[in-house]
Amino acid sequence: MLTGLKSLVRKATSLFASPKAQTYPIIIPRSDHSLSRQNLSPNAVKVLYRLNKAGFDAFLVGGCVRDHLIGIEPKDFDVVTNATPEEVHTIFSNSRLIGRRFKLVHVTFGREIIEVSTFRANSAQDDNDDDDTQNTSLKGKDSARSAHGIVLRDNVYGNIEEDAERRDFTFNALYYNVKDFSIHDYCGGLKDIEHKQIRIIGDARQRYQEDPVRMLRAIRFAGKLGFELEAETAAPIKEMAHLLDHIPPARLFEEVLKLLGSGNGIETFRLLRQYGLFRYLFPDTDALLQSGWKRNDIDPEAFILQGLKNTDDRIQSGKTTAPYFLYAVLLWPSVALRHEEFQAQGMPATPALHQAANMVLDNQVASTAIPRRFSTPMREIWDMQYRLPKRYGKRAFLLLEHPRFRAGFDFLLIRELSGANLDGLGDWWEKFQHGTESQQRELIKSIDLFTKDNEGPKKRRPRRRRKSNGNATSTAPQSETFDE
Ligand code: ATP
Ligand code: MG
Repeated sequence: MLTGLKSLVRKATSLFASPKAQTYPIIIPRSDHSLSRQNLSPNAVKVLYRLNKAGFDAFLVGGCVRDHLIGIEPKDFDVVTNATPEEVHTIFSNSRLIGRRFKLVHVTFGREIIEVSTFRANSAQDDNDDDDTQNTSLKGKDSARSAHGIVLRDNVYGNIEEDAERRDFTFNALYYNVKDFSIHDYCGGLKDIEHKQIRIIGDARQRYQEDPVRMLRAIRFAGKLGFELEAETAAPIKEMAHLLDHIPPARLFEEVLKLLGSGNGIETFRLLRQYGLFRYLFPDTDALLQSGWKRNDIDPEAFILQGLKNTDDRIQSGKTTAPYFLYAVLLWPSVALRHEEFQAQGMPATPALHQAANMVLDNQVASTAIPRRFSTPMREIWDMQYRLPKRYGKRAFLLLEHPRFRAGFDFLLIRELSGANLDGLGDWWEKFQHGTESQQRELIKSIDLFTKDNEGPKKRRPRRRRKSNGNATSTAPQSETFDE
């Protein structure tokens, strides 16, 4: 970690000597930093060269430059250019124009997408000003704000200085120029990386007002990089967190996946709660955590932490994770509570569970959208928690075939690991999955038929015989029933 930056900063110390007198950009030549073409995606390099060849400026910017300097493998490569999205689209036949709020171009190479955006100018001052053509760098004007001051569209193009100023954090305004392999630092990002600080560019309040998601991004980077929020960047967050209520639920859904599903979920969850942001993402879950409610089969906080740990561990060991699983974890405590409430009102267990799931999902989609392709498997995982204990007869074999069995079983293990006492259910299923058929039959025999969930074969009511000869009624033979 930080090896690249250390050498970079050492050679550039004179540039940081007197911050007040500092003129930007600080340009770090090729010889003084460790970012080279070998570290970059060949496709990103191709895009940069093609744009240069067509007569445009093109830089790598954002996460890929930042992460490389910190010593982390960049997740993706973002390119920025003075070509308009339409011009970029014309240059690359393998590209697609996307976005309305923020128009950009995706250039596709097999599974890799290089995102190409156009230098933006800050649209803060020119909202109601139709006569802003004095801004010579302006190539197009398309910006709009909501009544809350949130930028709805941000398609006012500008030059690189303006582009740097409207980025979110200083370390995200570092540009790599493929023409001479230099890095251009417009806002002091290198120094902040050195001090492990997350610093918003410009006035924090104004920047959060324009786009409240920046508060979530600050927390995301703090969780991911282990950096601190600089004081002025941190100060207004608690007070302004409520602005997240005005962000479209679909955008927040995407942000949640990045926040909690990127391998640092536990720390990010802690920070989201510390800064009062979590309640705007998961209002029911937050209220339940605040209430301190628990039961002997669920401790909401321990359960969520265990679920996040499971996701973090999987990501860190290169395994895949399913977004629906994470969402199923975060909403399960509320489902369990509602389930209990509906049953207390006299509803039978299965309809009560479905009703609880409906209610929790309905409430949640007001904050973060949940596409149906995620809500369906979430329901199946929850359902499975009430089906896994019922193993009698053929039920266990049937459940094993269920497409969501694995997810349901993993979920069960998380419940157990977080302290739920489920009478060794996870262990039973572990053995059952890996056992031979005869071992599986033994396992089924070993189930205590007198537990609530395994009443065993249902006994038919004694059939009434017509009194023909005055004999007493006789009991019909037992038979298995598999209905739920
Ligand atoms: P990563 O891709 O690793 O999650 P990133 O910083 O590259 O991190 P992206 O969402 O890919 O994040 O955005 C690319 C760049 O666009 C950022 O580095 C930042 O400069 C700018 N950016 C993204 N979102 C915003 C925003 N809400 N406000 C201002 N600038 C932003
Ligand atoms: Mg990125």
